[in-house]
Amino acid sequence: LASRTFKSKDSIYDIGGIKIGGENFLTIAGPCAVESKEQVLETALFLKEKGVKFLRGGAYKPRTSPYSFQGLKEEGLKILKEVSEETGLKIVTEVMDTREVELVSRYADVLQIGTRNMQNFVLLKEVGKLNKPVLLKRGLSATYKEFLMSAEYIISEGNNQVILCERGIRTFTDETRNTLDISAIPVIKRYSHLPIIIDPSHASGDWRYVAPLSKAAVAAGADGLIIEVHPDPKNALSDGKQSLNFEQFSELMDQIKALLEID
Ligand code: PEP
Ligand code: MN
Repeated sequence: LASRTFKSKDSIYDIGGIKIGGENFLTIAGPCAVESKEQVLETALFLKEKGVKFLRGGAYKPRTSPYSFQGLKEEGLKILKEVSEETGLKIVTEVMDTREVELVSRYADVLQIGTRNMQNFVLLKEVGKLNKPVLLKRGLSATYKEFLMSAEYIISEGNNQVILCERGIRTFTDETRNTLDISAIPVIKRYSHLPIIIDPSHASGDWRYVAPLSKAAVAAGADGLIIEVHPDPKNALSDGKQSLNFEQFSELMDQIKALLEID
């Protein structure tokens, strides 16, 4: 069902009047984690001014250490909803557990399945029963086939609104957090009709590399970007090192817009 041989034309979804896929470029931005109403609202107002229509922010965070900030959970979801109502931005947020699918889907416009859950087949089937787009992130060491098979799990349950996301894979590099696999864009586009977007933030783990990777992704034909932006990256509760501040994001958006207009 995810394959080009099943459906030759690019999939296009409509999220409350906003089109995703095909000729439409999707920009999702926002903090790694929801920390407070003030933090999310300040970011959302800034992003709206920049023309961004989708706000990201985790309320449930898959942290490497159990002692790191785990997210505000339902309180975080409520903050996202309030900010969405106040700004009109659509919400992209992660669901980590089947027990929370129903709850998260009441607040989110797009449900994110994180890298670590790409092959959590029970969770994939659960979001497959929803009538809501799912942003599926590629596993740390998943092959393209495995990645597409995970999308297949969601679609085969009835939900055909899957957005794929390449967010860097594990290699031997020690300078970046992961290695952005740019090849994922043309390869996935060859074999699948699903849109594929790029997450340069988790791919690099360093704000310095986010702009060049974003531009490479646009040049390679990505359908969109998901970028971590924080009003005060130095004091972020998670992923501050890879988050852009407002000024940096603003500059990047101008460059991306220029690139998109060329083609
Ligand atoms: C995230 O988007 O905040 C996140 C945890 O991403 P990933 O699952 O790609 O690590
Ligand atoms: Mn993050």
